[in-house]
Amino acid sequence: MQTVQKLMKVFVTRRIPQEGMKILSQAGVCKVSLWDSDEPVPRTELLKGVEGAHALLCLLSDKIDAEVLDAAGPNLKVISTLSVGFDHLALDEIKKRGIRVGYTPDVLTDATAELTVALLLATARRIPEGVEEVKNGGWSTWKPLWLCGYGLSGSTVGVIGLGRIGLAIARRLKPFGVKRLLYSGRTAKPHAAEVDGEFVPLDTLVSESDFVVVSCSLTPETQGLCDKAFFSKMKNTAVFINSSRGNVVNQEDLYQALSSGQIAAAGLDVTTPEPLPTNHPLLTLKNCVVLPHIGSATYSTRGIMADLSARNLLAGLQGTDMPSELTF
Ligand code: NAP
Repeated sequence: MQTVQKLMKVFVTRRIPQEGMKILSQAGVCKVSLWDSDEPVPRTELLKGVEGAHALLCLLSDKIDAEVLDAAGPNLKVISTLSVGFDHLALDEIKKRGIRVGYTPDVLTDATAELTVALLLATARRIPEGVEEVKNGGWSTWKPLWLCGYGLSGSTVGVIGLGRIGLAIARRLKPFGVKRLLYSGRTAKPHAAEVDGEFVPLDTLVSESDFVVVSCSLTPETQGLCDKAFFSKMKNTAVFINSSRGNVVNQEDLYQALSSGQIAAAGLDVTTPEPLPTNHPLLTLKNCVVLPHIGSATYSTRGIMADLSARNLLAGLQGTDMPSELTF
């Protein structure tokens, strides 16, 4: 007698690269229901979509808390997030229910580090301002004192959070002639030797760096870390870069620091909220470059992230080893 296995339900909260969808559809073990849009799933649709699901593939913009887990019910075995950050997941609630979590570390490290370097150079060398001046007729002639910025050669760079991405940023910045590479975090990292990194207290990093780069994870400890006191310790000529999470920064304090000349410039790939409203005060400042959270946005990286998150999800469904399981 033939046993007919019931397909398990998977809810995917957004259109994702076909690399991931293909893996899910070819696995033959699940029935995928998809929020078929490039826009975030509305909360009510998320709560409906997860109902009875065995697996959830979500994005960093989906807040997965007790309400979502309750809506899913007891079938839910695995949550696979298409991100390395997991601050959108209520891990304590997830743990209580014995649900496994997959995420996408490593595969986005290079793309995010590359974008962070691009943002740093664009901000320090005032590239968006320069492009704008060419377009609006502000470019009259070559002027010795016009559109000057700050260079990396001979500088001190401070990396807050020398993890996978922080190290990849440091590796890329060193060849620009960086003289000192400082880093801070909870513990000193053996891999810092590769970039001659000096483990220093946060205050030392903030006050001695010409470029402060934030690449730590968002935790209760790092939430609002970059505030008035933080910016007041930075050099007036220093450039601040954040490609971690918007909530690490107090944006009102950053606005004050930028508009008062307390610091020279800031480049942000992440903000609070996302998207940043077009009338936000930070967008009125020439010395603030804001990007729409595109750290990992290369075609190949997004394809690989989708592939990995699909394989994490299937492993979670089948009770096998995940390629990238979050331990918590
Ligand atoms: P990771 O390897 O886990 O690195 C995170 C780092 O944060 C660790 O080195 C950790 O240092 C540090 N950290 C934790 N608490 C800290 C604290 N209180 N002070 C200073 N540092 C602290 O993660 P990753 O793969 O590099 O990713 C880092 C973050 O980048 C992600 O969590 C995500 O939010 C963000 N991200 C953004 C984009 C984008 O598109 N912009 C793309 C990918 C990732 P210790 O080990 O010493 O605690």
